[in-house]
Amino acid sequence: MSAQLIDGNATAKAMRESIRQRVEARTKTGLRAPGLAVVLVGNDPASEVYVSHKRKDCEQVGIISTAYDLPDTTSQAELITLIDELNSNDEIDGILVQLPLPAGLNSDEILERIDPKKDVDGFHPFNVGRLAQRLPLLRPCTPAGVVDLLDGTGQDITGMHAVIVGASNIVGRPMGLELLLKGCTVTTCHRFTKDLASFVKQADIVVVAVGKPGIVQGEWIKEGAIVIDVGINRLESGKLIGDVDFEAAAERASFITPVPGGVGPMTRAKLLENTLFACEELHN
Ligand code: NAD
Repeated sequence: MSAQLIDGNATAKAMRESIRQRVEARTKTGLRAPGLAVVLVGNDPASEVYVSHKRKDCEQVGIISTAYDLPDTTSQAELITLIDELNSNDEIDGILVQLPLPAGLNSDEILERIDPKKDVDGFHPFNVGRLAQRLPLLRPCTPAGVVDLLDGTGQDITGMHAVIVGASNIVGRPMGLELLLKGCTVTTCHRFTKDLASFVKQADIVVVAVGKPGIVQGEWIKEGAIVIDVGINRLESGKLIGDVDFEAAAERASFITPVPGGVGPMTRAKLLENTLFACEELHN
């Protein structure tokens, strides 16, 4: 392998430590600790794991997380009532509703009900709009974490051609907005893109967020490109792998993220950072 590994675990750890110190400094002056409401509806096993990680992360840095574990029989009206209560609760800086919601619940309506100043996932149309207008406030965690990883490489990415594979609301689309803000020339590919390889081959930066192992082949990577693999796929053996053919891509790339240990830990750390930001900048 010739690429340098981008260590998301180490970057996220440093970020958590800095957040922990800022929270401690705050509480020492008598200010309250930031508060995060974590709402989980139903018992999807993957969601339960994600939520338990988020709660543990909060504990580590001194953010007070409050759990709202609701049964999968919860109605849209009941969930809206809870969001309204959390919106007006002065001890809560961030509201996280774990997705996907059980069938029958309208997640768009729920996400839009969250006060944009408490939208620590950055999914509310207000926050997406602010990012689109180059006035970011609360930024979607995964793309913001990717930007930090790119910054950490020390490379000046201004003017680079970034090719994003995947155009979801939570990763691909806001990733494009973030990279435009960084001065990249951005191409977004998706399920209807014809000849994906031809786009990836032109990329100085490739960000892949599809959820299909091997969708980006190593031989497509331009020599010296930066490769960011957002995908998380669990094999039958239980092993986690990304969307990029890692071994072959690492032979050609200058920098590459591993899975696990790349983007995933940054997403979690960014949630903490957004919660502290909401507390300090939006609710003080
Ligand atoms: P999604 O299913 O909402 O979106 C997938 C995107 O891939 C779509 O835009 C679709 O058009 C595109 N796509 C599908 N087939 C394609 C093809 N053949 N060629 C090009 N594009 C294609 O998924 P998502 O929520 O954006 O998540 C994507 C992956 O990233 C998943 O593996 C998910 O687990 C992972 N993820 C990781 C993190 C993290 O923190 N590391 C965060 C969010 C999502």
